Amino acid sequence: MLRLAHHNKAAKLTALVTAVVLAVAPSLAAAQENRGPPVLRDAETEQLLRDYSRPILRTAGLERQNIQMVIINESVFNAFVADGRRIFVNYGAIMQSETPNQIIGVLAHETGHLAGGHLAKLREQLAAAQTQMIIAMLLGAGAMVAGARSGNSNGGLTNAGAAAISAPQEMIRRSLLSYQRQHEENADRAGVKYLTATGQSARGMYETFKRFSDEGLFAGRGADPYLQSHPMAIERVAALEGLARSSPYWDKKDDPALQLRHDMVRAKISAFMERPDTVYRRYPMSNNSLPARYARAIATYRHGDLRVAIAQIDQLIQEQPSNPYFYELRGQALLEGGKPVEAIAPLRKAVQLSNSAPLIEMLLGQALVASNNNAYTDEAINILRAAVARETEAPLGYSQLAMAYGRKGDYAQADLASAQAAYLRGDNKTARDLASRAKTRFAIGTPGWVKADDIVSAKPLPGQKNN
Ligand SMILES: [Zn+2]
Repeated sequence: MLRLAHHNKAAKLTALVTAVVLAVAPSLAAAQENRGPPVLRDAETEQLLRDYSRPILRTAGLERQNIQMVIINESVFNAFVADGRRIFVNYGAIMQSETPNQIIGVLAHETGHLAGGHLAKLREQLAAAQTQMIIAMLLGAGAMVAGARSGNSNGGLTNAGAAAISAPQEMIRRSLLSYQRQHEENADRAGVKYLTATGQSARGMYETFKRFSDEGLFAGRGADPYLQSHPMAIERVAALEGLARSSPYWDKKDDPALQLRHDMVRAKISAFMERPDTVYRRYPMSNNSLPARYARAIATYRHGDLRVAIAQIDQLIQEQPSNPYFYELRGQALLEGGKPVEAIAPLRKAVQLSNSAPLIEMLLGQALVASNNNAYTDEAINILRAAVARETEAPLGYSQLAMAYGRKGDYAQADLASAQAAYLRGDNKTARDLASRAKTRFAIGTPGWVKADDIVSAKPLPGQKNN
């Protein structure tokens, strides 16, 4: 399953970092205009990123912080931290990383920012800069007033006033930039340290940053968001190379099994996110590798014939009978192809093989509900409740739960679940209306009533319109 989702928490932190957005995450600035960046949800990709980051986070002493990996729906290369609790990775960064080691290097660098508390420091620095700015503007305004009072109408002093404003601005910008460069170098050093401590090469990190440094020479300003937020000075990349080469693991290659998982995820992202002709150009029929067949099977189900797609997926299953994501794909194809009853068995298998991945449980719950068979209703409710307890930010779980409760005639729980789904989608007005109605259906003070009351009185998340 690869889904677009409006990520509420992302919207929240977008507002939080508006002030530092220029220095840290330029791509968020554009995304903010349509209320929070859409996030991609996929059990397989998220699991891979968690597996990539786990040893790094442990070495950095961040194991207990429960740092989340969030995949942003952007095709350009970017990775950033924005609130100390999440590492954001554009799907483009995964696509453009040819080896696990390359993206792991970027994650190690971002972990360096997290462990160094760079965001909080930058925020402090920015607050100090804003104070300087206000002083500078007061001084500038003072000059203008003086100009006006002296009756000098040729504007000379007025211009001097404007210059008094812009000169400190430029100074502040430069001091912030040099501050940021210092953070980048520290994050590089920390990243290499984590990689070496976990027996991994920093070569991929160097390769990625070298590529940006080379591109930066030609691209000009603002060409790439990662380059904007990560000035790749030639000296910085040279220092990184020295550090990376001094590690005993410089020449260490990625584990072939991990490389295969990486290639499978890249194939999946291409097949879901790119146009079919692009997918077939990347993965032509002449390419008989597992990732290529995975990409073509997905492209077939999305753009072609369901029966042909199922035959292609069954061949994948034959090759890797314990890969949960092949069964998930089979179930998703059947569910979206209007065959929910047939989707149930492969999705059960996918849930079992994935150790009950909540996103796959939600898909199974959806198939059980869509089957229109009341014999499945209780099972659907049980699975969906278990899923939303562990995966608290995906509206799909709650919207399916609402349908299951509706089928049982439990309208109080149905309204509450619908309200929770609306809240997670960022539709606060609908969430409040449904939660108000749910409150009238529950006995006062019961757990359901309390949850509904929480939604009614919840303030809209910052960065969201109060509508
Ligand atoms: Zn950085």
